[in-house]
Amino acid sequence: MRYFELINYGKEKLAAADIDTFSYDARELLLYASGMTTETLLSSVRDECPSETEEKYRLCIKRRSERYPLQYIMGYTYFMGYKMKVSPDVLIPRPETEEVVLAALKLTDKNNSLKALDLCTGSGCIGISLYLERLKQRKTTLLTMSDISENALLVAESNVDSLIGNIDKTLAFSENGEKSGKSDITLTASDLFDNISGKFDLIISNPPYIKTGDIESLMPEVADYEPRIALDGDVSNPDGVAFYKEIIRKAGEYLNDDGIICLEIGHDERDAVAGILVDNSFKDIKVSKDINGLDRIVTAGLNKHK
Ligand code: GLN
Repeated sequence: MRYFELINYGKEKLAAADIDTFSYDARELLLYASGMTTETLLSSVRDECPSETEEKYRLCIKRRSERYPLQYIMGYTYFMGYKMKVSPDVLIPRPETEEVVLAALKLTDKNNSLKALDLCTGSGCIGISLYLERLKQRKTTLLTMSDISENALLVAESNVDSLIGNIDKTLAFSENGEKSGKSDITLTASDLFDNISGKFDLIISNPPYIKTGDIESLMPEVADYEPRIALDGDVSNPDGVAFYKEIIRKAGEYLNDDGIICLEIGHDERDAVAGILVDNSFKDIKVSKDINGLDRIVTAGLNKHK
């Protein structure tokens, strides 16, 4: 088959599987299967596609029409402009989460060096992009990334290696001229704070926050294939906010006096999470909306006079 015929084949199959982004996905998967750039594909659409590529493409289309996420097929996604490896062991980073990082960057703008803890790091998208964005502004970050899942930590580690590992050869210099790089980063297997020690200026987290009963009503891509452990916010409570209770209750012990907490929340969890922050004497509690106009980002400061 020629390339354009294959794209049409892909589009048809994906549309039949009720995938809204059928056109985009069909093209992305052909780029992935062929290893071509968009430009090369555009100039070769009338050429015959090699049979191995065609076979690979048909398999990708089959998998995608089972609603297996595009990002898991390709093995990566982009977050804050960085190419992040993903696998079914980690949640696929969402654009909403970029805004959590942006909020944290703003709040820590004055800290030339920062000790930060990214709890439930998953792919590592939050911690890594925070580190790299601060580095662009010549600010250093001592970053601890933790997750209960060792398989998730392997993905995070691979992202640290590919995005930060070689950085000391390029642009990274801290205030005192010391090189920054991978040694600034610690990856820890930990159930929330269990294996965490020391104090931080920032605790940032996008913990699991979907109510168990709501998971089945999510898109099949999410409900059937993303890790339940990264989604389900119930644990033993029926309200979906169990992780916030645990994180906020203990955060005081792990934050410096002027420490900040920055959390992603479910769109209907604003009052519950703000209430938990109030109960634990946090101040300057601010809830902001995501790109879709939904409550998504909560920031607060530790009240040292509590
Ligand atoms: N921190 C990761 C993310 O934001 C993983 C979050 C999670 O697993 N709940 O994508």
